[in-house]
Amino acid sequence: MTKMNLLMVGAGLSGAVIGRMMAEEGHSVTIVDARDHIAGNCHTERDAETGVMVHVYGPHIFHTDDAEVWEYVNRYETFLPYKNRVKTTSQGRVFSLPINLHTINQYYEKTMRPDEARAFIEEIADKSIEDPQTFEEQALRFVGPDLYEAFFKGYTIKQWGCSPTELPASILKRLPVRFNYDDNYFFHKFQGMPENGYTQMVERILDHPGITVHLNTRFTREQAAEYDHVFYSGPLDGYFDYELGRLGYRTLDFEKFTDTGDYQGCAVMNYGDVEVPYTRITEHKHFSPWEEHEGTVCYREFSRACGPDDIPYYPIRLMEEKAMLGTYVEKANAETGVTFVGRLGTYRYLDMDVTIREALDTGRAFLQHAASGTQM
Ligand code: FAD
Repeated sequence: MTKMNLLMVGAGLSGAVIGRMMAEEGHSVTIVDARDHIAGNCHTERDAETGVMVHVYGPHIFHTDDAEVWEYVNRYETFLPYKNRVKTTSQGRVFSLPINLHTINQYYEKTMRPDEARAFIEEIADKSIEDPQTFEEQALRFVGPDLYEAFFKGYTIKQWGCSPTELPASILKRLPVRFNYDDNYFFHKFQGMPENGYTQMVERILDHPGITVHLNTRFTREQAAEYDHVFYSGPLDGYFDYELGRLGYRTLDFEKFTDTGDYQGCAVMNYGDVEVPYTRITEHKHFSPWEEHEGTVCYREFSRACGPDDIPYYPIRLMEEKAMLGTYVEKANAETGVTFVGRLGTYRYLDMDVTIREALDTGRAFLQHAASGTQM
């Protein structure tokens, strides 16, 4: 195969994984990122004051059932066991999430066994709602008004900036309750935390003589002409200079504070009451329980509508966005010499394992096309 000059826009997981694959095949890879660091939104760095490893763009827990992806990340970084156990403060009390037997027993001050709790929830669920259309109706039909108010309503209003009556029922597909004491947030077979952070892992993925990284470098479409192909992990609408308008996102503001000792006793504490302006507090030292630090770093997290100069975090994907997205996707499909990848390039919420899986699949498909002499 002839050697190609390839450009990756974005040094996050998408750009790094595809870039590495291309470099290993002997192609010349240039990676540009507008930020002053690699690893995209998974970026971790040590806090200068306390030495605590901080998840700069919000908490990132690695979890997957994909054995190849798990093997891939472990090739570049040691993953230590980590289970995500989230708590929530609601109505002046602390509860365990996701809603499990402990949460139900605590909330109702009962000592129910699994079958008793199941029957109890069925009894309090609002069965008058036959065909739920909204998130609120769906939640009420599943768990009734008390648990809905305590654990869903306030958090959802703050997270999405709208009433749960304006969100589709499809958000809550299954009964969001466990009738046992399992408080591990994720069900996945492989779960862990990188010993020295995600940024070290990405640094090692990028450590190949065929890869050159340029930070503080924003991609412009004129640059594409210098390359045989572009893999673009920036915002889809941004690629087209927002000519059809902006796809809606929620952005996050993090209010950092430091303390000594242990501030809240867990990594993530949600706040379910709408009167509390933040959605959660993350205490980063709990992500590395194998390290010891006297100081502690916490982030209060606030969610709001994303403006043109903000970092896009969560795609909104309601009706209005979906219509605009459809047109952007048509335009993207009509482009030659560029592949849109990753959470921003495809306007989807993607966990890290899915991002890596898609990057591996996209890279392999590209190489196959190249080997057979066809364009992607
Ligand atoms: P990104 O990481 O966003 O990388 C894209 C890069 O492109 C960025 O560095 C950006 O600066 C750069 N870029 C954009 N436009 C341009 C341009 N025009 N020119 C140059 N560079 C550009 N996943 C999990 O598995 N577990 C979790 O616990 C988890 N928690 C999350 C929490 C939050 C708050 C969010 C928002 C996401 C979370 N994720 C989690 C998902 C995870 O962040 C993504 O899977 C991952 O970041 C996707 O990588 P990416 O390379 O596609 O995108």
